[in-house]
Amino acid sequence: MHNLLQVLVYLTISVWASFQLALVSFLIVSPIAFMTGKLASRLKRYSGKAQARIADVTSLVTEVLGGIRIVKAFHTEDLERARFAEAIARYRRMVVRLMSLDSLAAPLSEFWGVAIGVAVLYYGGRLVLSPESSMTPGRFFVFFLALVSMLHPLKELANVVARFQRGAAAADRVFALLDLPGEEDAPDAVPVRRFQKTIVFENVSFAYDPQHPVLRDVSFEAASGSTTAIVGPSGAGKSTLMDLIPRFHDPTGGRILLDGVDLRRLRRRDLRGLIGIVTQETLLFNDTIFRNIAYGMEGATREQVREAARIANADRFIEALEGGYDAMVGERGVLLSGGERQRLAIARAVLRNPAILILDEATSSLDTQSERLVQEALERLLTGRTTFVIAHRLSTVRRADRILVLDQGTIVEEGTHEELMSRPGLYRHLYNLQFRDFTSPRADAVES
Ligand code: ADP
Repeated sequence: MHNLLQVLVYLTISVWASFQLALVSFLIVSPIAFMTGKLASRLKRYSGKAQARIADVTSLVTEVLGGIRIVKAFHTEDLERARFAEAIARYRRMVVRLMSLDSLAAPLSEFWGVAIGVAVLYYGGRLVLSPESSMTPGRFFVFFLALVSMLHPLKELANVVARFQRGAAAADRVFALLDLPGEEDAPDAVPVRRFQKTIVFENVSFAYDPQHPVLRDVSFEAASGSTTAIVGPSGAGKSTLMDLIPRFHDPTGGRILLDGVDLRRLRRRDLRGLIGIVTQETLLFNDTIFRNIAYGMEGATREQVREAARIANADRFIEALEGGYDAMVGERGVLLSGGERQRLAIARAVLRNPAILILDEATSSLDTQSERLVQEALERLLTGRTTFVIAHRLSTVRRADRILVLDQGTIVEEGTHEELMSRPGLYRHLYNLQFRDFTSPRADAVES
């Protein structure tokens, strides 16, 4: 604002000093100012676009980091890498355009500045020297001073190049995560196509840091097609136990066998190909519903996606959305409720049709109707699969073939619901604490 004021003041002075000279200067300056203005607005537009591009990059990074388990489980690292490279390339192209324009702007304005100065000096000098003119050296000096003083505030006014952030540092972080150390397979890794009989935990121990063991001597067996529920207090190690199956971590002691083969000897990609994961944090990408369901399933057809959505009780709400399966979801799309997000995650798992399913039941409460739809969808998803579920619902533990009760990293009890209820112990204690006064349908969602 005060730049504008300064310009006006100097302009008045220069017109007062010599109207004729001011007019000539104006005639020279205005086309140049017009061009500079054009350049500035283009710079501004590019800078805005560059900012949008970097915002794309950041939101992609947030998505991928937030859902790194899903990315790994669906082995879509390459897809994510490609999406990231594409976003970065778009950003880079925009920055290059912005930078070349920007670097053109500075010398150009310097050049015009000098050219105008020389022109005014020349013309003004001639006026002063000419006997017919009323121009005195004093007036000319005042005029020239006013003109020169105007330059700086004018420049400030024209300086519209916005600053923007660089995404290069972010790139390194994502690539580092996608390529976590130790993700390479053993040279003699064996391929695995299907899961047929059992998953066996043999004296499995695990520690994130050697001082604090999280799992100690965990042994159990899960037969193909069975449901294993894992219950226990918060921090007991339930999620850690589940993370060992897709090999997000490897046991620090003991081993896990799939159909008799140590997981460490299997090709990680094959292993993860057998496993579907449905967690509480449903990862939605800034993309269409269709692409979100078909995530990691190149070549899935409309029909298959629709069918998966139907099984997951998600078809109705999807069809009610504007655009249906082409509606955008995620950070910049339509907002979905907790239950709808869960059902999308279930549809994703249905489409993938994994032999082994890892389920982390939500603790967040849904309304009764939504709860029923999710529950029904889960039941359909579970049928016929080998399922491991971190259970929070009474209905789930009741139906499980085996319940493992985990406390401080060890299995303290195991059996069916009836077996565990028939004897005193942690399970019966937890059960009595959580389900005894179970009167409303809502009360079966409990914190374990
Ligand atoms: P639960 O799922 O039963 O609540 P977790 O498996 O999440 O239990 O956690 C078990 C223990 O391991 C907790 O003490 C937790 O603080 C610790 N833990 C979990 N994840 C990590 C991690 N990535 N790094 C270090 N410690 C962790």
